[in-house]
Amino acid sequence: MTEDTSTSAPAGLDRRLLDILACPICKGPLVLHAEPAVLVCRADRLAFPLRDGVAVMLEEEARTLAADDPLLAR
Ligand SMILES: [Zn+2]
Repeated sequence: MTEDTSTSAPAGLDRRLLDILACPICKGPLVLHAEPAVLVCRADRLAFPLRDGVAVMLEEEARTLAADDPLLAR
């Protein structure tokens, strides 16, 4: 188990919640971004929104990212 201290969780989001969050499509790991507040699946290039600290894990709510989207590089 690796500790990632470079990612800061947005206020209201329980950091421990991220340990159980997985992409609903590929079941892969998600990368948290604070600004904008999204959870990114790099495999699917999808950004799932966070609303009031709650992750919206719906494919139809996710934003598709371009291959060169900076969210995928961070
Ligand atoms: Zn995925």
